Amino acid sequence: MDLNTDVIAGVEAELKANLGTSVRIRDARSMSGGSINDAWSLETSAGRFFLKTNAADRHPSRFVAEAADLALLASTNELRTPKVIATGEAAGTAWLLLEFHIAKTWTSDADAELGRGLAKQHRHSQPHFGLDRDNWIGLLPQDNTPASDWATFLVQHRLAPLIRMARDHQRIGDGDVLRFERLYAVIPDLIPHERPALLHGDLWHGNALYTADGVVVVDPAAYYGHREMDVAMAGLFGGIGPGLLDAYNNEWPMEPGWEGRIDLCRLYPLLVHLNLFGGGYAAQVSAALRKYV
Ligand code: ADP
Repeated sequence: MDLNTDVIAGVEAELKANLGTSVRIRDARSMSGGSINDAWSLETSAGRFFLKTNAADRHPSRFVAEAADLALLASTNELRTPKVIATGEAAGTAWLLLEFHIAKTWTSDADAELGRGLAKQHRHSQPHFGLDRDNWIGLLPQDNTPASDWATFLVQHRLAPLIRMARDHQRIGDGDVLRFERLYAVIPDLIPHERPALLHGDLWHGNALYTADGVVVVDPAAYYGHREMDVAMAGLFGGIGPGLLDAYNNEWPMEPGWEGRIDLCRLYPLLVHLNLFGGGYAAQVSAALRKYV
């Protein structure tokens, strides 16, 4: 077990406060799968728990925001999320402690359950796009300053900041930067007007687990946005099948012409990946962009 002893002590103290009984961590196993943070399966005297850790100075407040995002999604009682036990910081390590969910193989039943639950979650609305606080998507800060229309929010708080970042790090060519400028002018005509929908915000296959109790979603970057963002992203990196869209449409049909807007909605997650992981994603951003301008 490589987990820092101060972190272990902090986690044990929080488990005791939460469960009302003294808890010992017997083993901490490093798990693969996390792209950003270290993930641990904790065997304790009170059962198994899931712990995420990262350097506290690397992205301060990240786990506090994630815990709030999970609580926000949980408050709708639609898609299941892991219960948040606690967040903490010790010896320069920030951590987030969650209920553990054992994943089994993803199936078409899972696609359908996720599609149904997602549509129901998207019915939860508020007057503005954005959120009352900022959060993170992976290691990137996500600016949730409210806006009353989606086109403004998408351009000012999602696309433009990531184009600037990619340009500053020479990850995007001048031609595509100009294409984005042209895209901004046409976005209001491309996207149907809809009420702000509560989004998971980072819904790819790695953030959806199929368990004995059904689908559980993890690692959100929640905000109120256009519901097409979640649906478009769910199909972007594989693993989630077309059954999601069928189930979603049964619950709340997408507006006509949706197929033509998928790539537009995927620009944001592609820009996130371009800025986080570099190189290869530039071509995907460029190809998606050229469908519109
Ligand atoms: P990161 O922020 O580094 O991307 P994630 O929150 O996505 O980390 O978690 C990494 C992996 O750990 C996920 O892909 C999933 O397989 C698994 N995981 C996440 N949350 C839980 C949980 N509560 N219980 C069990 N496994 C989990």
